[in-house]
Amino acid sequence: MLKGKTALVTGSTSGIGLGIAKALARQGANIVLNGFGDVDGPRAEVLAAGQSAGVQVAYHGADMSRAADIEDMMKSAASQFGRVDILVNNAGIQHVASIEDFPVERWDAIIAINLSSVFHSTRLSLPGMKAKGWGRIVNVASTAGLKGYRYVSAYVAAKHGVIGLTRALALEVAPRGVTVNAVCPGYTETEMVAQAVQNIVRKTGRGEDAARAELAASNPQQRLV
Ligand code: NAD
Repeated sequence: MLKGKTALVTGSTSGIGLGIAKALARQGANIVLNGFGDVDGPRAEVLAAGQSAGVQVAYHGADMSRAADIEDMMKSAASQFGRVDILVNNAGIQHVASIEDFPVERWDAIIAINLSSVFHSTRLSLPGMKAKGWGRIVNVASTAGLKGYRYVSAYVAAKHGVIGLTRALALEVAPRGVTVNAVCPGYTETEMVAQAVQNIVRKTGRGEDAARAELAASNPQQRLV
């Protein structure tokens, strides 16, 4: 279905981003992976997912907190594949602290990676999408973009920002064949939630199972996604 298209998924070396990259590869899209940590493993998984469709998989290690890195990644994607047709803004980090103890450096990093990066990758991919009259932008927000959670103020602020940006941009580019949507997952079984579980265990002395059950209880299915 997506053969001949190129999808760039930020933060796709693990978790939700890696799952999305594999799903898009299965549909035949060439993939640009991004993120930290092991690259060979995720690249092999995405190549295997897209094997029958003959997809190509590239990787760029842009630090999504740095506009210059994002510019370099978009240039490299364009030179390799012509343009980015599908942009999935997924990279994200988390930090848990009360607002008066929130490290300023963590606040800045969360706003840069979870929110400002969406602005940068979007502004840089839109000219190609508009020229072709077709583009898809999917922002991985969170239920934290729709309601508040205690002790994750920067994350909640950034995700509310992502939803606002999605709404504004969707109106701006709809006449040009580009759709912009956000998805808002609940707690999902990834490294981010593994850290949240450890955090609850450390702070409350409860066991891991109890911590996981507490997170799962806020999902409609009463289990982690
Ligand atoms: P994860 O930690 O498994 O993956 C995060 C990805 O982002 C990794 O590939 C990591 O290398 C990358 N990354 C982190 N900092 C980066 C940076 N500066 N530059 C480039 N890449 C960077 O987490 P996840 O749970 O898969 O989260 C993915 C997205 O989903 C995030 O935006 C997160 O806020 C959102 N989300 C997660 C959950 C959940 O419960 N796990 C729920 C709702 C939304």
